[in-house]
Amino acid sequence: TKWVYKFGGGDADGGTGDKNLLGGKGANLAEMAGIGLPVPPGFTITTEMCTRFYELGEDFPDDLDAQVQAGMQHIEKITGRRFGDTAAPLLVSVRSGARASMPGMMDTVLNLGLNDDTVAGLAAESGDERFAWDSYRRFIQMYSDVVLGLDHYLFEDAMEIAKEDKGVYLDTELEADDLKALVAVYKEKVEEELGRPFPQDPKDQLWGGIRAVFSSWNTERAKVYRRLNNIPHDWGTAVNVQAMVFGNMGDTSATGVAFTRDPSTGENRYYGEFLINAQGEDVVAGIRTPQYLTKAGKDAAGADKPAMEEAMPEVYAQLADTFALLEKHYRDMQDIEFTVQEGTLWLLQTRNGKRTAPAALKIAVDMAAEGLITEEEAVCRVDPQALDQLLHPTLDPDAKRDVIATGLPASPGAASGIIAFTADEAERRASLGEDVLLVRVETSPEDIHGMHAAKGILTARGGMTSHAAVVARGMGRPCVSGAGSLSIDRQTKEMTVGGRTFKEGDRLTIDGGTGEVMAGEVATVQPVLAGDFGTLMDWADKKRRMRVRTNAETPAECHTAREFGAEGIGLCRTEHMFFEADRITAVREMILSEDESDRRKALAKLLPSQRSDFEEIFRVMAGLPVTVRLLDPPLHEFMPQSDADFDEVARASGFSVERLKRRASELHEFNPMLGHRGCRLGITYPEIYEMQARAIFEAALTVAEENDGDGDTVLPEIMVPLVMTAGELSTIRALVERTADAVFQERGRRIAYLVGTMIELPRAALKAHEIAAHAEFFSFGTNDLTQTTLGISRDDAGRFLGDYVDKGLLARDPFVSIDEGGVGELVALAAERGRSTAPEIKLGICGEHGGDPDSVAFCEKTGLAYVSCSPYRVPIARLAAAQAAL
Ligand code: ADP
Ligand code: MG
Ligand code: MG
Repeated sequence: TKWVYKFGGGDADGGTGDKNLLGGKGANLAEMAGIGLPVPPGFTITTEMCTRFYELGEDFPDDLDAQVQAGMQHIEKITGRRFGDTAAPLLVSVRSGARASMPGMMDTVLNLGLNDDTVAGLAAESGDERFAWDSYRRFIQMYSDVVLGLDHYLFEDAMEIAKEDKGVYLDTELEADDLKALVAVYKEKVEEELGRPFPQDPKDQLWGGIRAVFSSWNTERAKVYRRLNNIPHDWGTAVNVQAMVFGNMGDTSATGVAFTRDPSTGENRYYGEFLINAQGEDVVAGIRTPQYLTKAGKDAAGADKPAMEEAMPEVYAQLADTFALLEKHYRDMQDIEFTVQEGTLWLLQTRNGKRTAPAALKIAVDMAAEGLITEEEAVCRVDPQALDQLLHPTLDPDAKRDVIATGLPASPGAASGIIAFTADEAERRASLGEDVLLVRVETSPEDIHGMHAAKGILTARGGMTSHAAVVARGMGRPCVSGAGSLSIDRQTKEMTVGGRTFKEGDRLTIDGGTGEVMAGEVATVQPVLAGDFGTLMDWADKKRRMRVRTNAETPAECHTAREFGAEGIGLCRTEHMFFEADRITAVREMILSEDESDRRKALAKLLPSQRSDFEEIFRVMAGLPVTVRLLDPPLHEFMPQSDADFDEVARASGFSVERLKRRASELHEFNPMLGHRGCRLGITYPEIYEMQARAIFEAALTVAEENDGDGDTVLPEIMVPLVMTAGELSTIRALVERTADAVFQERGRRIAYLVGTMIELPRAALKAHEIAAHAEFFSFGTNDLTQTTLGISRDDAGRFLGDYVDKGLLARDPFVSIDEGGVGELVALAAERGRSTAPEIKLGICGEHGGDPDSVAFCEKTGLAYVSCSPYRVPIARLAAAQAAL
């Protein structure tokens, strides 16, 4: 098997098209080498090797060794250096690289090949002892952390002590002799911890590095990241071995990261940071605060140190040309890592850059306008889920702000929450339902669970490309990074700034769009959905076939949904209307009634309020269809909870508390979700549905009369829940029609309406051809259909579903993304059988899945007429529907 693919020296075995095999980093390194860009030579061990490695119980097949040797010879030939040589030693980096980028999640080792002999060679050859020993101490530290599994604090502490002893502040202030002494300390520490010396043989180092990178695929943090980002566990990572170039060779050397457009706003200007005399991780780790790439970026941030454009104008010009070339070549915004070694530019990575939702929109719309991509491509470029970030409130510009610090606007959006100083604490508080801000000196990949749990992230150190910033943008969490005036003490759990002290649990607000940090909570406003958002949504609307409706039950939700472009209501639940304070007693009276006439008395009290609810909704939704679902939940949800509740019902109904309590215990159910609910209520207590139908028709007629003249019709669609037989539906349909006729007669006016059903039981799906004879529409209630098909209670699934996903037994949480193999098959089958009896039947979906892009794609494939989702997901569904249709 070919496990090793080479690149460098103007040529490569692969390219961008080989991402699955070479991982993103390897494929793009090959691509850049292939188009003649300056890439240090190297080779990629494939992702297939990763799979094989785990199949062999974390071991390598026999035929790998020779191929790796050949790969090393390839590098030696191009660089003219030899691995392990004492005169001109070759050093390499061993870098991970999965198919989908997982920033900072897996490991990389730099400067591999250094030992007590080669370090001397490197020093002599470069004429720079400091550089050689700095590289060696970095190598020992990284290798010990990544490969030998030692705690990096061990080394950081030793470094701190060395700096204190010398009375200096920056790593760069340590001289060759200091670093030499530090290396000795490092080596002692390794031997102390492991009982054996730091490996000196470069070959052992290399294999240790390769093994460690493959193993890092299965670290906890990598698994968590994959779960959060839906990256399959069986993809594996590739390993890239690449000749080192050095950004730490003095003041004509540097290392940096750059974006070809601003990843925060999408603005078309180069954006990046660099550090002079530094290596790799220094920029991202936030150890020193980096300098800006461009003058414009520097001026905007008010920084005092020169920009790269000023400090290294020639290399900068070459870099800028490369940006332009790469963006044209990939036809997308690129995120680039580079190093300058003594004035020579080297490219170490490029990939399509992660960006915020506003940036994604702007870049897609701009690139279409520039003619770089088509409108269709622009529509497909924006991740529908990411729109979520745009639809949420931002800080009210007129609200009072008690600004305590300013950092970098690392990820936009506003967030208020209580302070948590550790990721675990953030997770714990969030699980109690609190809004949390994670406040850290800087974040590391171990904090990822806390960042996810938090509403926003605030760090004291680190730039726009720091770990916190990159991860926050990816997750859509607002983030302010590098707020240097904050002094954070994790031990005492206190943050001080400008003489004020904040403790864990105190409330702060951050504005990730401006970088401001404020004490307390600040009022927010709804976003304006115009500009690029409007343009892209217009393009999407032109391309999509399916309609997008909303699940809404209050006038406020209906307003929001209409603003977001909903084309009707796909699910208006009626039960919430029963919970309101002024009604619940009447509802309880109704439930606890022992006969029809008592029930009717209670229902009569509810009719006017139901009617006015519907009037309001019909007014907001004028001209658009409104699907109203008749009462669905188990009645126990409405039961009196306390003695006070019973007293109140007793007062209202005139029955004794004793009698009411007896009735309540008679109504107790063991398994209410499979009990007396849905249309079963309408079968046993027809008067309930009769009241609801009357409320709907009376409201519809009232609003239709109001609307006379402006032509906006009212289009009620009455939906019967939890049907399992055709007979149930025909019975309730007859009841609805009788009620409609009665109301129409009373009011002397008719109105068009539909009657349909939810398909949410497997039997209903199987019998869809019979049920369709009585229905004008089906709406797939995929929440219940998932529960009843998988036999999994949604409310209890949290305890075990995560394990199922981790163990690969389920690809995704089936309540988030439709289980295509099972539930999806029932939906497709019901659609087909339903159409066999009623070819014109309208088909839609109204479960939570209606707002999940993958499920929307499934609906398109199945030929449904519409999806319905919560108001804030309407734009997501519009875009997803367009992408599915393209
Ligand atoms: P990640 O995937 O976490 O970004 P990388 O493999 O890209 O990890 O390595 C991190 C950094 O290490 C790079 O940005 C680069 O600065 C540095 N680096 C990696 N390989 C080399 C190399 N061959 N020469 C110089 N620096 C390197
Ligand atoms: Mg990288
Ligand atoms: Mg249901």
